[in-house]
Amino acid sequence: MPHKDPEARRVWQRSYRKANLEKKRAYHKEYQKKWRAEHPGIYADKTKEWWDNNPEKKAAYEAKRKAAPDYRPNKHARDQQRHKRRYGLSLERYAELEKYQGGVCAICKKPETAKHHNGLKTNRLAIDHCHNSKNIRGLLCTRCNLGIGCFSHDLQLLLNAVAYLMEPPASRVP
Ligand SMILES: [Zn+2]
Repeated sequence: MPHKDPEARRVWQRSYRKANLEKKRAYHKEYQKKWRAEHPGIYADKTKEWWDNNPEKKAAYEAKRKAAPDYRPNKHARDQQRHKRRYGLSLERYAELEKYQGGVCAICKKPETAKHHNGLKTNRLAIDHCHNSKNIRGLLCTRCNLGIGCFSHDLQLLLNAVAYLMEPPASRVP
């Protein structure tokens, strides 16, 4: 028995429960994050559905939000405009693209892993533009975006790289 003294045992049990509760919560949070990344849109769709099915709760929430001292009535619209101005596409369009790509990078088909500089949040996928036409091509992870950037987004260079990897010159020189 580690604790003969009942008071010491209680203290130990309490700390054990607390530590494990936090561990459990952290695990659950991680799992949730992963699930959401793997199922883009579903969580948002479900959330929207829930709000639509609970109009009285939505009204109560809206009222509370509007009563808050830091409430800014046009924040949503302004956020949308700023996003469009900065990145060339609206937040809705970004969400559409993200959903279409299954929440993963269009090249490596993996979710973004690069962290925001605060070290806490994972970045969202980067918006890749054609540098000449300025058209948006799609969403890429940091690695792939840098990767094609290293090849100056030049199709011929990238094709040369593929040909090189498939048939390395050293393998052809006897
Ligand atoms: Zn990628």
